[in-house]
Order: sequence, then structure tokens, then C-alpha cells
Amino acid sequence: MSQYPELKMLIAGEWLGAEGRNSEPVLNPATGQSLGTLPHASTADLDRALEAAQKALPVWANTPAYERARILRKTADSMRERADAIAAMLTLEEGKPHPEAKMEVLAAADVFEFMAEEGKRAYGRIIPARAGGTRHIVLKQPVGVTAAFAPWNFPAITPARKMAASLAAGCPCIIKPSEETPATAIEMARLITEAGAPAGVIQVVFGVPGEVSTHIMASDVIRKVSFTGSTAVGKQLMKLAADKAQRTTMELGGHAPVLVFDDVDAEKAAVMAVAGKFRNAGQVCVSPTRFMVHEKSHAKFVETFAKATEALKVGDGMESGIQMGPLANPRRVDAMTAFIADATSKGAKLHTGGERMGNEGFFFRPTVLSDVPMNARMMTEEPFGPVALINRFSSEDEAFAEANRLPYGLAAYAFTRDSDRAIRLQERVESGLLGINTFGISVAETPFGGVKESGHGSEGGPEGLEAYLTTKFVAHAPG
Ligand code: NAD
Repeated sequence: MSQYPELKMLIAGEWLGAEGRNSEPVLNPATGQSLGTLPHASTADLDRALEAAQKALPVWANTPAYERARILRKTADSMRERADAIAAMLTLEEGKPHPEAKMEVLAAADVFEFMAEEGKRAYGRIIPARAGGTRHIVLKQPVGVTAAFAPWNFPAITPARKMAASLAAGCPCIIKPSEETPATAIEMARLITEAGAPAGVIQVVFGVPGEVSTHIMASDVIRKVSFTGSTAVGKQLMKLAADKAQRTTMELGGHAPVLVFDDVDAEKAAVMAVAGKFRNAGQVCVSPTRFMVHEKSHAKFVETFAKATEALKVGDGMESGIQMGPLANPRRVDAMTAFIADATSKGAKLHTGGERMGNEGFFFRPTVLSDVPMNARMMTEEPFGPVALINRFSSEDEAFAEANRLPYGLAAYAFTRDSDRAIRLQERVESGLLGINTFGISVAETPFGGVKESGHGSEGGPEGLEAYLTTKFVAHAPG
């Protein structure tokens, strides 16, 4: 049996293929070859999905939280049982090495399990009333039908965060995963359905992204939108959401600073940073990007970083021992080439990498640049690829100012052993996520999200459930 499944949409409980519909090929980024054909939803298909979701809303919202939890927990169990096979689909369509893909699938299973439990705790509260015999009650209720749009860089975890939180809260979800990495999300929807979710509770559609989002967000059925992707697209979707006053969770771009102070072992920090930087070939919204290293340690840090980068094994993620796969699509190869040419032409020093690898698939050498001038595009625009920019600072104030310079505010990292400085970092760094002496900032039970133009709202943790609940205040006086 092929490791890559036949691609279908799930609408109103029915699996629909490409016959009679527009379609597009899905490519394996390691080879550039087609893996399969993805159907696009027609307008009639999208309307049918909206109608089915609306019908499913009272059914699902009134399903006891314990039963919803059972279905989501069963989904988590099935994902763990099938983790190897799902990870193979993910690697084939996205490129990351199979062990990394498997870790993502297992992390997505954790999200289903966490939200299964959290859905049972959608507690309201009772507020002491001012008059005797009166109750002041706060109720948490499902927001309604939700629309989710997920990108290609995390085909398991990003759709999982959106589907699991929506379903745990009692909200049917119509999801449009990325057309470039559809199979992983299709498989998760299949497992949710097999676990017992009624028709219309989870639906999966594909198409031209702007056409699908414009059509479904114009419907009165959709009450909440969750998007992960670029800031530019997020802003377009916020404008569409405004027309229907839909609630939004926006997880947008980032340009994470990494401040390395002179009180830590620069070599140890550099080795950790290489693993963090080249995870998923740097195509990560929280990828460590703008390294700022104290001038005393800069040379040692760059040398160790470049050496560890050169030692990375780059190749087809289905082969064993590979540490970095191809970029996910040819757009990223072109973007990397242009960003690096721009930076070096303006005086950045290239230590390793800087070019495409081979002529099959979308491989790019992991790249290290230092002394990157402020007018290089990459110092302002999100590179979203395998490149580290390593500059220097001399004072803490200078480092903090650079960390907060951009309109982005998703992740930030710092390496220091000074606990007073760690508190100043917590207070002054403008980001939704802050890693101090670690790059591990995302697990199912913790909130994940940005500030400034990196978006708003959190996925994960109790905040991730809250995003799908409305708050109703009830004053109940004696009759
Ligand atoms: P893009 O900005 O066109 O697309 C980003 C994602 O949004 C894709 O998954 C796409 O399918 C989706 N999308 C695009 N237009 C949409 C619309 N109108 N409605 C709904 N969904 C829409 O470009 P791209 O080449 O795929 O990615 C480029 C940039 O996007 C990257 O440089 C990075 O900045 C950003 N990005 C961010 C994340 C993230 O995790 N925050 C993920 C992927 C891409």
C-alpha cells in the first residue's frame, strides 16, 4: 500500500474526491514529484458544508462534555497508534525528517487529549448577588460554527489545535488545511469521525485559499475564525471577519530575537541554537532568527554555530539519519536565494550555506550570516527558512531595544544566568512567548500566541478553549 493516501474532502459526513471538480497536484518537496490529486470544493460544496455545520451545531453543543471528551481522547489514542504512518504522510508532503514529523504527530495527539479534558472544565461561576434570593450566574457557551485556516509548515499540530479546541468547546469546525500539505489533516478528520463525531461536526475543504475564506466567512453561520499564516493574509481575514463581527484568533508571522548574554557558555548556547534554528528547515513562526550575541562572545558563538551547521545531514526526510529536509515549496527556495543575495550585497558575512542544493526537490543549504546590516531586508522581513543572522551588542539596553524593534511580537529567546536580568526580560520583551535558556516554548497545556502584528489570541492551554466560548451573564431574581 502506498504511504500517501487518496486525497478527499469531508463534507456533511461524506468523503468527496476530485471527479467533476477542480483539482491540483500535491508535490513531494524532496523530489518535486506529484504525490496525488487534491479536489477543490465548488461553491455548492462549501454551501453544503455550511448547512451541515449549522445542522450539527445544536447536536454537538448539546452532546455532554464527557462524550465529546471521549471522542477526542479516542482520536488522540488512534493518532498515537498510527503515529508512524501519519508521520510518513507528513514527511512526504512537507519534507521534515520522519522522526521530527513523528514528534509533531505525537504533540498533536497531546493537543487532542488536553482539549478532551479541558472541555469538561468550561466552568462558569456564581457571583454573590446584591439582593437576597437572586443569583448572578456566568455561563460559558459554545461560540457557534467555526472556520479554521491552517498553513503548510505544521500539517499536524496547527490543524489539531484548531479542530480539538473547537470540538472540545462544542463548536462544529470547517477546516481548510493547506492545499500543499493536506493528507495529515484529512487523516486526523478521519480519526475524529471514526471515534464517533456526528456528520457535520468536523468538515475538511480545499480550494483557492482566498476564494474559500471569502465565501465561507461571508456566511452568517460562521461565528469564529482561526487563522495561522502570514501577517499579510491575517490582516485580510480580519477585515473579512469585521463584516460579520466574527471573533478571531490570529497566529501570524514572527521574527524571533535571541539575546545571548556574556554570563552563559556561548558554545553550549550555539549548539542548542543550531538545533532550534534548523528544525523544520527554519520554516517555523517561532524560529530563532535574529541572534544578538554579546560582543565578548560573538566570535566564539559564530564559529561554533557555523561548525555545527555544516555538520547537519540534509536530505530526503524519509531516509534515516537526516537532520534537515527540503524546503516545503519552491517559493521558499526563491525567497531564500533573494534574501541572502540582498544581505551579502549589503555587507553581511556568509559563514556557510547560502545556496540551493542539487537540482531535484527544494533543498537549500543551512546558512549562517553574521554582521548583517540593518538595511538588509531579512533584518525586517520574516525569512521563514534555514538562515541564522548573528549580530552583536554591547549593552543590555541595546539588546532589549533590538529585540523590540520590529512590529512582530511572537517568540523571543534569551540566554542568561542572571536572575534579575531574567525578570527584566519578562517585563520588557514585547512577545507572546519568551524562552529563557530554552527553545521549548510550545506544549499542549501552555498558551501559544503573539502580540503586536504577530496576531492575537492564544491556542493551547485553557486560553485555547476559552477562545471558542462566549460569556453570558444571567441575573436570576425570585419570580
Ligand atoms: P501566503 O502568505 O500566501 O500563505 C500563508 C498561508 O495562508 C498558506 O497556508 C495559505 O494557504 C494561506 N492563505 C493564503 N491566502 C489565504 C486566504 N485569503 N484565506 C485563507 N488562507 C489563505 O504565502 P506562503 O508562501 O504560503 O507563505 C509565506 C509566508 O507566510 C512565510 O514567509 C511566513 O511569513 C508566513 N507563514 C507563516 C506561518 C506561521 O506559522 N505563522 C506558516 C506558513 C507561512
